[in-house]
Amino acid sequence: LQVQECVDLALSSTRVRSTKEELPQITTKVSAELPLVQADGEWLVEVLNKLLDNACKFTSPQGEVTIQAKTNGNQMLEVTVADTGRGIEPNRLERVFDRFYQEEGALRRTTGGTGLGLAICRQIVTAWGGQIWAESAGKDRGTQFHFTVPIAESN
Ligand code: ATP
Repeated sequence: LQVQECVDLALSSTRVRSTKEELPQITTKVSAELPLVQADGEWLVEVLNKLLDNACKFTSPQGEVTIQAKTNGNQMLEVTVADTGRGIEPNRLERVFDRFYQEEGALRRTTGGTGLGLAICRQIVTAWGGQIWAESAGKDRGTQFHFTVPIAESN
């Protein structure tokens, strides 16, 4: 499976489904030369979709979203979806993967959703033997979500 194709699919899906009037600027740095990965394509698109949707949801139209992929030397490809949006406090970086966890509590939120998305992403990524984690320099300083996916043996 080619990661670049999945990124393109997820990107067009995010653009079509977004209810925001204007999305942040989205840049992809994913080469077609990367090794093929061993994963179910629909699941990979699902994970990318979720991370892209969130990045766009929590970043203003003036901000930026970047998608990158690189080999990480462990027979894994590491995909990063980074945004310049509202960020996540250090003590919440793991909690965002809990089921139904939403930063501002469901009653106060204006951005919709159920809080299940990242929990599902973690299940999918774990099933193919990868890892998913979040990094952020803190409030209003953007967020980077990283996940790994095994490189196919046929490369
Ligand atoms: P759903 O996935 O059901 O649409 P959701 O987006 O609220 O709802 P998750 O995707 O699981 O649920 O995300 C959980 C919480 O993590 C979000 O509500 C938000 O508080 C925080 N979060 C996720 N992605 C980002 C991001 N890129 N920047 C800042 N906060 C984020």
